[in-house]
Amino acid sequence: MSKKTPQAIRGTQDIFGSDAEAFAFVVETFERVRRLYRFRRVEMPVFEKTEVFARSLGETTDVVSKEMYSFDDRGGESLTLRPEFTAGIARAFLTNGWQQYAPLKVATHGPLFRYERPQKGRYRQFHQIDAEVIGAGEPQADVELLAMADQLLKELGIADVTLHLNTLGDVESRDAWRAALIDYFRAVKDQLSKDSQDRLEKNPLRILDSKDPRDKPFLADALKIDAFLSDEARAFFAAVTSGLDAAGVKWVRAESLVRGLDYYRHTAFEFIPDEGSASAAALGSQSTVLGGGRYDGLMESLGGAATPAVGWAAGIERLAMLVGAREEAKADAVIVVENDERLDDAISLLGKLRSCGFSAEMIASGSPRKRFDKAKKIPAHALVSFVVTDEGSPMRIMGDGGECHTAVESFILTGR
Ligand code: ATP
Ligand code: MG
Repeated sequence: MSKKTPQAIRGTQDIFGSDAEAFAFVVETFERVRRLYRFRRVEMPVFEKTEVFARSLGETTDVVSKEMYSFDDRGGESLTLRPEFTAGIARAFLTNGWQQYAPLKVATHGPLFRYERPQKGRYRQFHQIDAEVIGAGEPQADVELLAMADQLLKELGIADVTLHLNTLGDVESRDAWRAALIDYFRAVKDQLSKDSQDRLEKNPLRILDSKDPRDKPFLADALKIDAFLSDEARAFFAAVTSGLDAAGVKWVRAESLVRGLDYYRHTAFEFIPDEGSASAAALGSQSTVLGGGRYDGLMESLGGAATPAVGWAAGIERLAMLVGAREEAKADAVIVVENDERLDDAISLLGKLRSCGFSAEMIASGSPRKRFDKAKKIPAHALVSFVVTDEGSPMRIMGDGGECHTAVESFILTGR
């Protein structure tokens, strides 16, 4: 057996201290905001049958073709650690007959796994918050979902991130656009990047969001979806944008925004840091913080009845980077036992404070003479020291005491 200590898996993170506080702040804020919008909480399995993702996302997508953690279990079944939430939630909707709750608004958060090249803001185990509206075909669902995302970012104090919005049209619009893009890119095929050449026939929309310098010269002149939109798709998009305006959500049109997955229809969007902003500086090239869209075709690809739906997901780590490290909260009180005869009194006060809702911790180990200095280093509103002094005073309180002063004083007076 090797004596070397094991290393963490590449692309995983051990999040601690003020970074963990920022992470928790994102999750807590999300939980609060999703309740305001009356999204119900769901808990999803961390793994699913591989086909759940392969059929939902499409075989040609980056996620399915290169990024999934798939393995055969001991029964020989191919399973995959979830690379995203939507496919699993769609599967659960069908498995459990959640049609009865439609339109169903659900929210969840947790870890996801993608085999990517780890770098700043990009990990192999990362975490998302996720919100979905299933069984709602009206543009109002898109508006509500986007208003929730916008409010969440505001409540996180992230002001320099803007909604980039596009429509991919309905199936006819999207297919016509796709065919036109294949023609357009085929003519310049040998000048495109290798990735884009591979995508050309199977997933030409993806070429539009290529960041490869070989592709860039051809992107600006590529045909835009607007030329192919059916009247219905155009009206849908107009209803989404007017709803956003009414809800006070700022947005910009992003004609090349396509999103990576096959299942998107109509609305597609990303929240991206504004150019030159603090958030752009913090995130570097990993710039999308929240993304999603409408996936009306997904349930059918899983063998269910046609069910319109729209959703988004945001990387918790990326949001936490924008929030910045957050201080761990000060304790209301730190209790130090400088005289071991007073230990039980100290334990009693500690319990009383906590059950009154005050945060408190106790220092009662190590050399008694060193305990006071140890306790003083802990950020706290009050430092309560248990001593027996010459004057017979059982206890000293230092600091501003904060709100818990009264509780401590009553303890001194009554012992309760
Ligand atoms: P990207 O273009 O950055 O690869 P994506 O389109 O693959 O993003 P989605 O699948 O839409 O991302 O996931 C939504 C959000 O999840 C992203 O906007 C990002 O905040 C976060 N995210 C995605 N992949 C990772 C990762 N490997 N590490 C950390 N966060 C991630
Ligand atoms: Mg990706």
